[in-house]
Amino acid sequence: MATRTEMLEELGVAPQWRLRAPAGAPAGSAAGSPEAAPAPAREADRAASAQVPRAGVSEGADARVDRIARLGWDAFAADVDACTACGLCRTRHKSVPGVGDRAAEWLFVGEAPGAEEDARGEPFVGQAGRLLDNMLAALGMNRQRNVYIANVLKCRPPNNRTPEPGEADACRPYLERQVALLKPKLIVALGKSAAALLLGTDATIASLRGRVHRYRGVPLVVTYHPAYLLRNLPDKAKAWEDLLLARATVAEGGGPEDAKPPPVP
Ligand code: URA
Repeated sequence: MATRTEMLEELGVAPQWRLRAPAGAPAGSAAGSPEAAPAPAREADRAASAQVPRAGVSEGADARVDRIARLGWDAFAADVDACTACGLCRTRHKSVPGVGDRAAEWLFVGEAPGAEEDARGEPFVGQAGRLLDNMLAALGMNRQRNVYIANVLKCRPPNNRTPEPGEADACRPYLERQVALLKPKLIVALGKSAAALLLGTDATIASLRGRVHRYRGVPLVVTYHPAYLLRNLPDKAKAWEDLLLARATVAEGGGPEDAKPPPVP
């Protein structure tokens, strides 16, 4: 449940929910530190990646999925960067594998990198990203601590068009591997593309909000994409309700049993 202060903050008083910098200003980049893993994890990653062939070599679709399913964190970004499984590899400037705390309990999943993300190789660093950072701040979190941020697509679609089904399918093994490596306590699907990929549904955000779904057994809450919220400010109050549901779900260890549909096959 929202406290009065939280709701008042959400309704416009919260500095955390205001854009903190003009669109051109450098965002609070997580470059450098967030990808750093503790030493034991890096050891495990080295062992895993040593047995895994690199992306880009000729391989069948099944072999590719198997290979990605065995990637460790340290090999992950390079593998995404070498990926040529869909046409977006020809138009991207940088791949955008993901960013954040490898021990995070929360995983936020967006749609696809935009222009600034494509230039910097980091998700949600544009205007929508600044709003996402403010949403995280309202929860007392930031992308360096307890949060990991990824997208359905790791490469930018030209002109920010909606991901095509073939692109989402080609990129799916990477998101699945991120979920498997991270083992988050909660996934927040930001917008329709993320909800559609993770839940295998074409349902509207409005119909998916307000309850706890499951992705591979992980509780999942659906909310509006920050870019949508920038254009529809009144819906920020609904997004805040969604984040409170997410926070309560983490606190309860997964949400009430009756809020759990079966895992997505
Ligand atoms: N929108 C997204 O869905 N992801 C990003 O990384 C940036 C904008």
